[in-house]
Amino acid sequence: MEKAILVTGGAGYIGSHTAKALSQAGYLPITFDNLVYGHSWAVRWGPLFEADLANTTALQQVLRDYKVEGVIHFAAYAYVGESMAHPEKYFRNNVVNTLNLLEAMQAAGIRSIVFSSTCATYGLPGETPIPEDHRQHPINPYGESKLFIERVLHWHHVAHGLCYAALRYFNAAGADPDGEIGEDHDPETHLIPLAIETALGKRNCLDIFGTDYPTPDGTAIRDYIHVTDLATAHVRALEKLLAGSGGFCVNLGTGQGHSVRQVVETVKEIGGREVVVRESPRRPGDPPILVAAPTRAGQLLDWYPRYSDLSTIIKTAWDWHERQRRENESPRTIRN
Ligand code: UDP
Repeated sequence: MEKAILVTGGAGYIGSHTAKALSQAGYLPITFDNLVYGHSWAVRWGPLFEADLANTTALQQVLRDYKVEGVIHFAAYAYVGESMAHPEKYFRNNVVNTLNLLEAMQAAGIRSIVFSSTCATYGLPGETPIPEDHRQHPINPYGESKLFIERVLHWHHVAHGLCYAALRYFNAAGADPDGEIGEDHDPETHLIPLAIETALGKRNCLDIFGTDYPTPDGTAIRDYIHVTDLATAHVRALEKLLAGSGGFCVNLGTGQGHSVRQVVETVKEIGGREVVVRESPRRPGDPPILVAAPTRAGQLLDWYPRYSDLSTIIKTAWDWHERQRRENESPRTIRN
């Protein structure tokens, strides 16, 4: 029988791609998602429980009923700007709900958890590329909430032998190469989907936030990593934990940076359409350059990105958005 893995936030962008990767690797992903930001149509490889992690009864029941053997924990709020305005919302949802989850896991005897962390835990980097042992000094409550959970996991590891992997993503992007699922945020704030939507005529123009950064073309540089590569890394990390070893943090990035203007140019090339841009002031809190030192993930997890060159990222995202646009012209099919 397939091993059941609880995927909190499995109806979200990275969660749903990971559920697919789990299923392909022979596991049964059990999605636990309150559907505040997730989509039921993205849950296609196992059952969906529509519930909040604050609902301890529902959580305990799912862990028991499915004899869950490991957890991949995505469920969290992830809007940096909103976290600056409402930090309490982020600490309650991201931190307190994780404490609930860990208690429920402990009660059920589950010892393995892969945690969705972020490069936002580093704050303003003092060196680039950023290694895992770089100082962590978040500059917003979102990053702080994720760092707090990393520390909680560390102390559960020390005290209770919990096996954990905290995966610090850089910029997740792209869509399932088979076209089954993709990125669908509301509101959308990320560069690549916004650039594509502008090219497709769904938006009038794309703001380029900051053209006076100390970078070759004056725009900010990020390390874009394909969501399917992220999904594979979660499965690798889970397997390491289930084999009994774990208590580590790794960056998930490519080690290569691309500027906002390079992203816009690639969207134009791949889509064959214009992207109208407006040069705008910097977005508060955006560092000039965020690029991962990616070697630890290779050493620990034997993980190397396969789909993360910028053209593949944008091609898969483009195909997904094009298809969405066509489907939105007719009523959307609910596919679960
Ligand atoms: N960005 C931009 N215009 C937008 C959205 C983002 O110029 O409409 C820039 C943003 O300032 C950052 C990069 O694109 O330098 C990536 O931003 P995104 O929001 O995709 O991810 P983040 O790095 O903030 O996690």
